[in-house]
Amino acid sequence: MTVPRIEVDLAAVRHNVATVKRTVATPIMAVVKAGGYGHGALAVARAALDGGAEALGVADIAEALSLRNAGIDAPMLAWLHGPSTDWLAAIEADVDVAVSSIEQLQLFAAVAERAGRPARVQVKLDTGLGRNGANERDWGAILAHVRELEIAGVARFAGLFSHLSGASRDADLRQVEAFERARAIARAQGVEPERYHLGATAGGLDLPEARYDLVRLGISMYGLTPHAPDTPSGLGLRPGLRLVAPLARDAAGWFVEVGAADGLPPLDAGAAAPLRLEGGDGRSWRLLSVGDVTTRVEPVPGADAEIAPAGSITLFGAPDASRRTTSADEWALAAGTIGYEIVTRLSPRLERRDAATGGTLETAPCEPRRTTRGLVAPRRTLTIDAVQLRASIAELADAGVRTLDVSADAYGIGLETIAAIAADEGVDLVVRTAADAERAAAGGHAVRHDPDAPDVARAAYGFRGGASGCLRLTSELVHVKWVEPGTGVSYGHEFVTAAPTALGLVPIGYADALPRRVAGAASVRVIGEAPFRRGQLSPSDRVPIVGRVAMDQVVVDLGDTEAWVGSPVVVFGTDAADPPLAEVAAWAGVSPAAFVAAIGPRVERVVIGGTP
Ligand SMILES: *Cc1c(COP(=O)(O)O)cnc(C)c1O
Repeated sequence: MTVPRIEVDLAAVRHNVATVKRTVATPIMAVVKAGGYGHGALAVARAALDGGAEALGVADIAEALSLRNAGIDAPMLAWLHGPSTDWLAAIEADVDVAVSSIEQLQLFAAVAERAGRPARVQVKLDTGLGRNGANERDWGAILAHVRELEIAGVARFAGLFSHLSGASRDADLRQVEAFERARAIARAQGVEPERYHLGATAGGLDLPEARYDLVRLGISMYGLTPHAPDTPSGLGLRPGLRLVAPLARDAAGWFVEVGAADGLPPLDAGAAAPLRLEGGDGRSWRLLSVGDVTTRVEPVPGADAEIAPAGSITLFGAPDASRRTTSADEWALAAGTIGYEIVTRLSPRLERRDAATGGTLETAPCEPRRTTRGLVAPRRTLTIDAVQLRASIAELADAGVRTLDVSADAYGIGLETIAAIAADEGVDLVVRTAADAERAAAGGHAVRHDPDAPDVARAAYGFRGGASGCLRLTSELVHVKWVEPGTGVSYGHEFVTAAPTALGLVPIGYADALPRRVAGAASVRVIGEAPFRRGQLSPSDRVPIVGRVAMDQVVVDLGDTEAWVGSPVVVFGTDAADPPLAEVAAWAGVSPAAFVAAIGPRVERVVIGGTP
């Protein structure tokens, strides 16, 4: 092995699905959003269906279409949509869509009328998560509209569902009660969905009342716990993946070439101390720290230069359950997060292999995010301003800096894009790791390997801040709702509204760009109508991210900022009013370079300013 890799244990996925299915005695929808939580959506989808799942769940329609195009014909549901959605693409592919508002249902219905056959629709309710899903005051109107659509032969009511906050057992039971009120409304109106479903892994396992007709199974399928990372499920589930990396050594000691740029959580010596890693020869290693592109380790006990190390170490997860290896949940505990985030943020740049065969894992072809009629995923865009980038490279070259650091696929921007620009500007390419050099060579690019490349070699991207930045990360509001004081927001209800306010949903979560640790500090810029406060134009339209960051989305408190579904959202940018990259990266606890490099594959890279 010469580059770090992920070994995905599909037998474990099959086993986990079958085990949970037996335990909950309820049909299973396997949730494979965000690239199957970093494991590879297509391979996991197949394994989950083999293991007894009857349906698949994803966040956006693009994720569903990529599975369909790879030949998966199981029932499928997608629940996160922007305002420019091409609903017909989902209808034609026989993908259930979940609508979260009357407006969304109307947009869907207008297209479904022309589809020529009843289009399958599910309705997502907010029963207390404070995220997407329709507000209770709209349930009657939505269900009445669904009934009309069914009678007119336009739609088939495929499901009525909601999602639990897990704030407490009582909070979840109150959501069950709310869900029962919705069922009563449906019954009173004479509409009957094919399926009612409420619980994900935690609800399905812990709360029999939440099982209904289907459990939406995510995290336990991957062998991790839905609870605090130090409370294993006790079901004998097995980790779905293992991260293995070849050992290398320099003057400072041992290291592996995987780091925060590949999605690992930043860990300093204190936080890393409890983690023990297993060498290929069974020797035990200690984790020292996680840096941008490398992770430092040392043999236990003590660093001993005379010990010939095994060729590789396992950073976490063990396909073989009998082996004692640190789990992703233990990493989560050390990093103050959850196992979900540890596996989901693993970069697609890391090679994924089938643990059983050693073969490259089959992945679904990346589906375009747009059709001729609209988008199939909410807007999530990393814009690269090529004019600004060229200017910065030229300016640095004038100052004598003739190398450009393209580590980590040019920090997630795309080596292909950057190499073309660099060639025009006559600068050489350099990478910090042997693994990146190998990946670049495989892609036909000549790069020099220099572990000590100076920071200035990546200054052209604007990682050092200032006006020279060429990168912007933008999205859009996909849902806006007005809520009462006392509304708990997102998992765990860590934020509760103090006043009547409007909450906006931004379809960017930790799978895409925002690590969970930004919660509490972070804000985004929402470009709505300039907010008018106390007789003055507000100087800023920054609004705080409230509640926990989820895998696919965050909630912002819009306060009195006038904004709507479709209003642009800037996560970081270069305008004076935008949050600067350096600030956002600081909230995440990583360098700007690692922050950008770890931006996920659902974020579209768009180059503006042209290439000559
Ligand atoms: C992600 C997600 C799930 C799966 O949750 P787990 O806790 O991983 O089981 C289920 N339902 C919805 C709506 C989700 O977004």
